[in-house]
Amino acid sequence: MAAGNWKMNLTVGAARKLVDDLKKLSFSMGAVDVLVAPPMLLVPHATEWVKGSSVMVAAQNLHHEPKGAFTGEVSASMVKEAGCTHVLIGHSERRHVFGEPEEWMGRKVRAALAAGLTPVLCVGEKLAEREAGSTLEVVGRQLEALAGVGQDDVIGVIVAYEPVWAIGTGRTATPGDAQEVHSFVRRRLGEAHGREVAERMRILYGGSVSPSTIAGLIAEPDVDGTLVGGASLDSESFMAIIRASAKR
Ligand code: PEP
Repeated sequence: MAAGNWKMNLTVGAARKLVDDLKKLSFSMGAVDVLVAPPMLLVPHATEWVKGSSVMVAAQNLHHEPKGAFTGEVSASMVKEAGCTHVLIGHSERRHVFGEPEEWMGRKVRAALAAGLTPVLCVGEKLAEREAGSTLEVVGRQLEALAGVGQDDVIGVIVAYEPVWAIGTGRTATPGDAQEVHSFVRRRLGEAHGREVAERMRILYGGSVSPSTIAGLIAEPDVDGTLVGGASLDSESFMAIIRASAKR
């Protein structure tokens, strides 16, 4: 799987062109699931544009309450109604720029699942946490957002390991560093939900992935795909990443 997080970028015209390019590629790339996460106002356009192709659309966030006085927010059912199949939850910018608390993550995961959406739960440590040697402890704590989610549901959840120090910095984790955390994530998921379930769950890597770093990352046994920010805004670079992501 290759997922592109557009963040707060692209005009309607530029987004349309990018989706059209991805649609052409997706016909010959049946082996790779392609997902794009546009800004919320572009979502209804994107879900129309991808029709007839295998490209899927994710929202970048949702609110866990079903409705009410939450100015600026959208609910899981609104995201679903707009045609999304997936939703990012706990992206580092939501956590660290907008201050979303850890205790919201489990609620968002459950709201997404209840609406029939696939959550992409983003986890990852800050630089100071890595330097303090607490990466696995931080990631382990963030995975607790999946506690209480039943086996049938959790198997569809996607986890994206995105070290905060690698996002938008041009500094990618080495394949070995990524694999260490990914195998820890799978082990933890196995302890919580059963080994068979964990083996079937997808764990994506995100953090300055580029056409030149994708091959090494995707070669790692527990890296099942990528979540790409900056490089997903350009069809040439995102398509190069998609082509290199053929795995599952
Ligand atoms: C992201 O936004 O999820 C991301 C990984 O960004 P970038 O690829 O730009 O580091």
